[in-house]
Amino acid sequence: MSATLLDGQAIARTIRAEVKERVAALLQRDRPAPKLAAVLIGDNPASEAYVGMKSKACGWVGIQSETYRLPAETSQRDAEGLIERLNRDETVTGILVQHPLPSHLNEIEVLARIHPSKDVDGISRSSLGALVNGESGFVSCTPLGIVELLDRYGIDLKGKRAVVVGRSIILGKPVALLMLNRHATVTICHSRTINLADVIREADILVAAVGRAEMISGEMIKPGAVVVDAGYNRVPGRTGDVGDVHFESAKEVASYITPVPGGVGPMTIAMLLSNTVLAAERS
Ligand code: NDP
Repeated sequence: MSATLLDGQAIARTIRAEVKERVAALLQRDRPAPKLAAVLIGDNPASEAYVGMKSKACGWVGIQSETYRLPAETSQRDAEGLIERLNRDETVTGILVQHPLPSHLNEIEVLARIHPSKDVDGISRSSLGALVNGESGFVSCTPLGIVELLDRYGIDLKGKRAVVVGRSIILGKPVALLMLNRHATVTICHSRTINLADVIREADILVAAVGRAEMISGEMIKPGAVVVDAGYNRVPGRTGDVGDVHFESAKEVASYITPVPGGVGPMTIAMLLSNTVLAAERS
């Protein structure tokens, strides 16, 4: 068997076109254009690159964006002060704090300052709490992108056995909750899980969110499973990124599979755009 590709690149393109229309509809009603404020603290080159990609994507769909840079030695008070200022700024409809922050800062407390109506990245404690409670709020972009991708391919989660490998706040836990809310039976695995391969083999829907290159191979996957690989890993001596799943062996067993790159990654940015226009529509 050779699995059908879950083409995040193509679906993200469709979502961008939809977001662009929603932005145009806001402008037609004389509403201000949505604006994303990206907060970049320190000089991590990867963070710089991610914020650059997000700003560029905003430009494609008519969302304004502005990057607010603070030096690596910024104090907790100044970081939180900037968030408070952006909360009060009526021209800003969405706020994104690029992860990770320098280690001396308490990231959870910085994120907690973001007003829920502007938390388009969905990882503050209030947004995560809303997800647990099943209330409307913003959902973290990568988990939302994964579920959206499955939806767009008509993959129903109801009653399915879903296994998520990884339990981070930005990815593993929220994607598990989203799938639970759609009536999947969900198991979350992590570094202390015993007999990981046996648990993975039970999955009708497998989400890999670990950060270990190709640790899940085809023989660990149930025939016909849907495989979503969120991992992005640099491997010395190889060009480009590789996922957490060994694509070549997995695609022979799975029914659907995301490529890396071109699967979950583009969906993450598409969901940030979608959340940002939603924030403006709600404001
Ligand atoms: P974290 O490092 O925060 O979490 C990794 C998780 O994997 C942890 O829960 C950890 O368990 C678990 N884990 C580590 N080793 C093993 C193992 N051997 N067996 C089982 N579980 C293990 O990573 P993130 O959630 O931030 O990211 C995960 C991957 O997703 C990375 O490759 C990252 O680059 C990628 N990513 C992709 C995005 C996208 O847009 N496509 C966005 C965000 C991340 P424990 O909790 O016990 O330590």
